[in-house]
Amino acid sequence: MIHQITATCPYCHKVTDAQGTANIADTDRTPPRAGDFTLCVYCGQFGVWTVIADRQIVRRLQRAEWDALPLKERLALTQLLIGWRLGQSQRDRQRN
Ligand SMILES: [Zn+2]
Repeated sequence: MIHQITATCPYCHKVTDAQGTANIADTDRTPPRAGDFTLCVYCGQFGVWTVIADRQIVRRLQRAEWDALPLKERLALTQLLIGWRLGQSQRDRQRN
């Protein structure tokens, strides 16, 4: 689900104005909530939505958070990342 929320990637620092959540349990199409994962469309890194001083931001994913995910969620996120990387390879080929 895509939401019109501005966020800065904690890895590449690019700003996006549309965010997709990678929470496979998000069936009610609500905006990202604290703890939801997101994938940066520029660099392909996973971030985690969090709230600091009443402001919603994306922070880096900690290894322990990844390790604590159930296998089913890790597989779904890995599948999302593979899809992004394949799309990125195709975009790179079209540019060259
Ligand atoms: Zn990024």
